[in-house]
Formats: sequence, structure tokens, C-alpha cells
Amino acid sequence: MFDIQKVREDFPVLRQIINKKPLVYLDNGATTQKPRCVTDVITDYYLRKNSSIHRGVHFLSSQATVEYEKARETVSQFINAKNKHEVIFTSGTTGSLNMLAFSFGEKYIKEGDEIILSEMEHHANIVPWQLLCERKKAKLKVLPFNDDGELLVDQLEYLITEKTKIISVIHISNVLGTINPIKKIIEIGHSHGIPVCIDTAQSIQHVPIDVQKLDCDFLAFSGHKLYGPTGIGGFYGKEKWLEEMPPYQGGGDMVDEVSFEKTTFNQLPFKFEAGTTNYIGAIAMAEGINYIQGIGLSNIADYEHELLEYGAAKLKEVGGVKIFGNAFARTPIFSFHIENVHPLDTGMIFDKMGIAVRTGTHCAQPIMQHYGVDGMVRASLSFYNTKEEIDYLCTGIEQVKRMFL
Ligand code: PMP
Repeated sequence: MFDIQKVREDFPVLRQIINKKPLVYLDNGATTQKPRCVTDVITDYYLRKNSSIHRGVHFLSSQATVEYEKARETVSQFINAKNKHEVIFTSGTTGSLNMLAFSFGEKYIKEGDEIILSEMEHHANIVPWQLLCERKKAKLKVLPFNDDGELLVDQLEYLITEKTKIISVIHISNVLGTINPIKKIIEIGHSHGIPVCIDTAQSIQHVPIDVQKLDCDFLAFSGHKLYGPTGIGGFYGKEKWLEEMPPYQGGGDMVDEVSFEKTTFNQLPFKFEAGTTNYIGAIAMAEGINYIQGIGLSNIADYEHELLEYGAAKLKEVGGVKIFGNAFARTPIFSFHIENVHPLDTGMIFDKMGIAVRTGTHCAQPIMQHYGVDGMVRASLSFYNTKEEIDYLCTGIEQVKRMFL
């Protein structure tokens, strides 16, 4: 499929010793590590190429502008957008969803309207909509999931009314790993004339995404979970919506003509990119995309599925571990409890062993409320993780069990 040892050499951070133990990095749901080609691009830009985009006629500025727009082309092809001006660079998934909630909300949401989310959303796909609902006196409705962590999609038909204006759902759960049937959700939404947004923060790096095939109206993602840098991400919107939606922020670059009496706005995508954007981030994110495309998204999905099956079997074998979520379709994210041990204690013992996992509510408190827990331990894997690392995670669990016996 691909040479895992060779791939790991591309990520210098993975070769570190932490607490006198080789690092076992299993916190990829929070952020992925960066291949050297991405950090090389960033260094090269700051050392030799830095110049503000869309601003000058001089060589460096023109070069940066060309490469920034090339990065947009890369993202556009990666998600198969129909037009590259449907891709907006933002600060990340949070930035994208706030922009959508504000801008779509300004144009289309009025008092009494309804917005449908799912019970397994990340806070980034809850709070911006809640703020909008407070502003406009609109209402949130929630599509529930069952204890296996599968959305009860059939209930969507009952939640939809003539007041429903948008549906916004997570593609892959950052806690349960569930791959949600977004195509079906989009089809149901569209059969009622309702646009659908998908949060792909946890999916775009794991499974191929084609916005035209999915026919989603909006999509949000983060560069730092896609082997790129922090502070950059993307937002996709169908042209027909983006043309109608008002700007989110005002400032340089998003304008056409400005006077104290009136301002006219720039064309897409610039209407939504106010101020000096994180252009180096965008160029480096595109490098990250090129890197994973070099490995092949379907190779990545196949290998990660192998890790999922191996990990699920091993964690079952180890005993005394309660795993949250058992969806039929999922990615290698294991959120769990070791019996009678607080997740924080587990996380701290793992850390002493060089194992990096996430502990807490994973920015998804409604999921914690669903299961009646105040936190979980989460091991989230990437294509650079190995079966040996899963074995070591199980050794860590045995160690925790021994200490709390
Ligand atoms: N949605 C999901 C599903 C996520 O996992 C995350 C990050 N944990 C976000 C949104 C927010 O992403 P960011 O913090 O990069 O904006």
C-alpha cells in the first residue's frame, strides 16, 4: 500500500523521546503532525519569499499572489469544487462555521426559523448557530444518535418543517469516529429545499470528498488536521449562495470601491477574505494536501481501516475498557474509559509512557451528556501510526489497570 516506515521519516516530530520513552502520538483528532515538505514551505516563504498578496506589482508580491491562488486551485481540485472561487480561505473550521452562521443568518434567518444540527456536533458547529438564534430569535433542533453512535437519520423527516432554513452536520465524529451518511442527509434536506452544510474537520484527511457528487451546499475544514499549519482552513459554498450572502467581515481586499457614503464589494472569493489573509498558511496547507494525495486518499482510508479493525479487536482483548461508539462505518478514533479510572488519571499515566492522547470532553459536551460521563480518553489515529503503537497503547491500559487495582 505504502511504506509506513518511509512515511514516518517525513514527520521528524514522531522520532522524539518524551518522558524517556519514544513518542506514541495518538492525538491526531486534535491536530495532525506536519511532514517536512510543509515546514520547508513555511520556512522558505518566511526566509526568501514573504510578501503581501493582491497588493503590489513587485516580484515578491506577484509571486506570493500566484502561489496563493494556486493553493486555492489545489483545494478546489481536492474537493472537486465546480469553481475555484467557491473556495474561501478562513482560519479553520471554527472560522468557516462562524462565517456561515453569521452571513447565511443575516440573509436568510428570521424570527421563528429553525436550524437543524445533530447531537454529535463539535462545539464549533453548535455555538455559532446558538449565537445566531439568540440574535434572530430562531430555534435549534437536534437530530439524535443511538448508543452505538449512529445518527437516527430517519427522524430527520420529522424534525423538518416549513420553518427549517438550514441543516448543518458533522461528517465524521471527532469523539465516536462515526462516518455519518451525509449523502442521505443532503438528499433529505434538498427534497425539502433546505441547504446542507457539512463539517469535514475530521473527514477530509481520511476519506475522499467530492462536493459535486455529495451536492452539499457548504463545507468547512481545518488545515492543521490536514497535515498543514494552524490558523488556516477552508470554506466551500455553492456559488449561488455565496453570491447572495453578505460579507462576514469588512476591511482591505474584500472591497471594490470605498467612500464614506458607500462601499461596493469585491467579487468571489475575495468578498469573504477581508484583510491580510494567512497566505503562507494557505500555500503550506496546499503542500499538505499534495503530500497526502501523493500517498493516495484511498490508500490512507484502507490502511486506517486496518488500524481500526486491529485496534478494536485489541482493546476488546485487553478487557476492562468501555469504548464509546460502535458504528458500522467509522474511522480509527477510540474514545474510552478504563473501569473505575478517571480519564485524566489515564491521560497522565499514558503521558509518563510517552503516549499522547486527548482527555476531557473533546469540545463535544452533548456527547458526554448522552452517555452520562464527564469526559473520555481518546486515541485518534493517522496513517503514520502503526499496529505496534496500538499494542503499546494496550500495554499502557494494562499499566493503568494495575495501578488502580
Ligand atoms: N469540528 C470538528 C469535528 C472538530 O473535530 C474540530 C476540531 N477538534 C472543529 C470542528 C474545530 O476545528 P478548529 O479548532 O480547527 O477550528
